[in-house]
Amino acid sequence: MEFKNFSPSLLRFAIEVELQNTDSPEAASMIAMAKLKEDPKYYNTRYGFVEPMRKAQDAQSPLQKLLDGNARFAEGKSQNKNVSIVQRKEVSKGQKPIAAIIDCSDSRVAPELIFDQGLGSLFVIRSAGNVINGIEIGSLEYAVDELNIKLILVLGHTGCGAVKAAFEAHKLDTKDKELSDIIKKIKPAVEYAKGITNNTETVLAIAAHKNAQMVKQDILKHEFVKDKVTVISGLYDIVTGIVTTDAEKMTKAKKLIFRKFYDEKFKKYRYKRVK
Ligand SMILES: [Zn+2]
Repeated sequence: MEFKNFSPSLLRFAIEVELQNTDSPEAASMIAMAKLKEDPKYYNTRYGFVEPMRKAQDAQSPLQKLLDGNARFAEGKSQNKNVSIVQRKEVSKGQKPIAAIIDCSDSRVAPELIFDQGLGSLFVIRSAGNVINGIEIGSLEYAVDELNIKLILVLGHTGCGAVKAAFEAHKLDTKDKELSDIIKKIKPAVEYAKGITNNTETVLAIAAHKNAQMVKQDILKHEFVKDKVTVISGLYDIVTGIVTTDAEKMTKAKKLIFRKFYDEKFKKYRYKRVK
């Protein structure tokens, strides 16, 4: 049989899959080869095998990996199928996530999806409005000290219900202390945004970004992040699927996409005033 037509990683993957049904490695490799001979894409289509590009990926910074993954997602070209049986087995030996994400609980902002990442890639803390208190800080401390995380990204998003609730707080019945705690945390960001523009949609987007920046500042006060971790904030746009962060320059493509959705004031804010 022609083994050389297939990459070692594909063969390893195929054999691992077949080992689910037999204890004999010889039998597994025979079955795998027979299936590959009949259909070379068998394991790609059925089990989501993706040829790893290990060297190139390892050389990238955690932020670059996130941004590249997000670019794939935004363009509808998500490729990370690292939810395979092999990957599950691999990460069962231990986790080595590339970054910690503090993210809103909103169902449209699932970090593994919007950054096109697989099982074991992201350490995620979620709350409505991506706000944090003692428990979340403790989780981050674990990620930094035990998992050796080097990047923390606080991610706000457009169309955030928690930010909207803070904006409309005067209308809300917030007898529930926990909910009003969330609103209280976001309120200063809303007040800040109101000072910039009267356009409600723009206020909400600016407030979501400002809120993420405030959470970042909160994290930076803690001893465990000092000199060990990069903490950045960003905004995810639920329409375009694009994440922009304080740590990168605006690319032409990002500007073009955002231009479609936001008015002149918002553009000025995003590209000139936000640091
Ligand atoms: Zn939200």
